[in-house]
Amino acid sequence: MSPSEFRKQAHRMVDWMADYLENVEDFPVKSQVHPRDIFNQLPTSPPLKGESMETVFEDFQKIILPGITHWQSPNFFAYFPANSSPPSILAEMLTATLAAQCMIWDTSPAAAELEEMMINWLRDMCGLPDDWTGAIQATASEATLCALLSVRERMTDFRINTSGFGPKDKIRVYCSSETHSSVEKGAKIAGFGKENVVRIAVDENLAMIPEALEKAITDDIASGFQPGCVVAAIGSTSTHAMDPIRPVAEICSRHGIWLHVDAAHAGTAFLLPEYRYLIDGIERADSYVFNPHKWMMTNFDCSAYFVKDKSTLIRTFEILPEYLKTQHSSQTHNYRDWGIPLGRRFRALKLWFVIRSYGLEGLQEKVRNDIENTRRIATTIHESPDFELFTYPPLSLVCFRFRPNGVSDQEWINEMNAAIVEKLNSSGKIYLTHTKINGKYLLRLSVGQTYTTWNHVEEAWELIQQTAKTIHSSKT
Ligand SMILES: *Cc1c(COP(=O)(O)O)cnc(C)c1O
Repeated sequence: MSPSEFRKQAHRMVDWMADYLENVEDFPVKSQVHPRDIFNQLPTSPPLKGESMETVFEDFQKIILPGITHWQSPNFFAYFPANSSPPSILAEMLTATLAAQCMIWDTSPAAAELEEMMINWLRDMCGLPDDWTGAIQATASEATLCALLSVRERMTDFRINTSGFGPKDKIRVYCSSETHSSVEKGAKIAGFGKENVVRIAVDENLAMIPEALEKAITDDIASGFQPGCVVAAIGSTSTHAMDPIRPVAEICSRHGIWLHVDAAHAGTAFLLPEYRYLIDGIERADSYVFNPHKWMMTNFDCSAYFVKDKSTLIRTFEILPEYLKTQHSSQTHNYRDWGIPLGRRFRALKLWFVIRSYGLEGLQEKVRNDIENTRRIATTIHESPDFELFTYPPLSLVCFRFRPNGVSDQEWINEMNAAIVEKLNSSGKIYLTHTKINGKYLLRLSVGQTYTTWNHVEEAWELIQQTAKTIHSSKT
């Protein structure tokens, strides 16, 4: 492609991008295609001769776009948001253009030094301990795996890195029943085995019970296991449950156990000092992860991983073949040693663009509005006689169900709520997902998409009520 053709196409696509963001609300939020609809429209073999960008772009609109779920729609209330924003998109365009491999300082000094500063900014913006440092990982799952591997090596004096597991290595990982599946996945990959992930009982708000943790640890020690790590959830994926950091940290330090805190989604809330009580005691943790790529308007992938002691992290991952040796290692960061992959994208740039474009106050205002809107709708749900609130939402996720007055058959209530979710999502007007707690099917309304305002939340609630009414009357 010639430079002038590239310029022409790029301008055209930027216009398309701006139109898309302006009109994203007009698309069905959840893609309405059926399995294989997209696959069956694709040629079974690649073209022999290059095609024009016009044709490719036409097919993008015709074939691909209908198979896209519009995560940037303000009517997206499913899962947790995966927000982008205009400054983040602009940075991603530049990152793609530079296409630098940012594995070590030499391969792009600006990427390494900007990443170091962005981690410091995020740390201070969220009130994390000022002697912590860290690195940008692709995902929270990877950050948690980094924590588990660091645990493994610190516990064994880096022996498993050298000689592998011995027959006496029986390392245990503790987390609540509500913790994200990435903990089990990480324990499998790290070689602990999923049978060595111990699920700790939770209270009525689904928070880990510290006494139950203590008991599991002492029982394990008595049976010859080696307690290695506790993973605490701040904002569990299912219902935003919050494990109590301070009492859990006290148990961890008493037994010399690593505490990793997973605040993948909820972490953005700590831009607001008034919510930092939720991570009271965080200075006693060993590692912490949160995803600016969820709620902080920074395109996926961008997960901020913080550690108290960087030397354990680096010793766990360091490799030093001759062709990667450089002369500036003592003053600079070589991030290939701070995580799993060698090659790394220049992800700090989008954070820099986002933080500078909105400012701390702009980001705080966004998060504060989302939390206020969530609480407002939760109060309305609570006051509605035909709906039942699971718990008052600590932040921006509200879980509830339709439970018409006088109905007590749980099976029937579950079926009705499942039918409501199905009907709402296939309408294309809003998209939300569900969870199941103690046998109860609950709707999850996750507020916080970049463009969501109070009006969108209110309209979603109207739609949920209408849909519930329609389904209820068709089933009685
Ligand atoms: C989303 C989420 C994860 C996984 O995040 P990825 O970045 O997709 O790996 C982990 N933990 C919690 C609590 C989450 O909400």
